[in-house]
Amino acid sequence: MDIVLFGMQGSGKGTQGKIFAERHGIQVFETGAELRKLASADSELGKKIKSIIEAGHLVSNEIVMEIIENFAKTIKLGTNVLFDGIPRKMEQAETFDALMKKLGRDFIGVLIEISEETAIKRLTTRRICGKCKEVYPAQYTKNECEKCGSELVTRKDDNAEAINTRLKAFQQETMPVIKKYQSENKMISVNGDQSIQDVDRDLEKALENYLS
Ligand SMILES: [Zn+2]
Repeated sequence: MDIVLFGMQGSGKGTQGKIFAERHGIQVFETGAELRKLASADSELGKKIKSIIEAGHLVSNEIVMEIIENFAKTIKLGTNVLFDGIPRKMEQAETFDALMKKLGRDFIGVLIEISEETAIKRLTTRRICGKCKEVYPAQYTKNECEKCGSELVTRKDDNAEAINTRLKAFQQETMPVIKKYQSENKMISVNGDQSIQDVDRDLEKALENYLS
């Protein structure tokens, strides 16, 4: 069964998803990374995405779904996928559900729950690599990126106002999707207000019955 990961910004879902997927040999679909990868490719779709991103527009629902469909074709039968960053709003959830049905794939949603207070605290103290954009939590004390050795900086959009806007968007757009999956019994929750190791342990426990 596939996993669809949900969590407010600062919930650590990217990190947790990566750790979990690696241990279980699950393929990760990360919407942002997938878009950046495609935008740099010399394909028709790549050029389309690049021009949209460069113009500062959001890539449409149709394009995101086209990307997932392309990605899905590369998955070997019997391999599970962890989706990170999709579906983000109701409109996407409806298309996502239809697409998964068409592909014959089933999924369980997982919400990594944190309080807004924790989200704000984590987001205002995290840093990012100036070069490769790897994100580092406040607990990471070195000043250089582990991956490329470049200097870590505070993200420009990690100020209180921008964070509030992002958290509000999560409440208004993504929460209805989470509630929809909860009402369909397709959603479990894990307490994200603890260390990476403890969240990982809880994720393992919560998902053990869903992974064959
Ligand atoms: Zn780096």
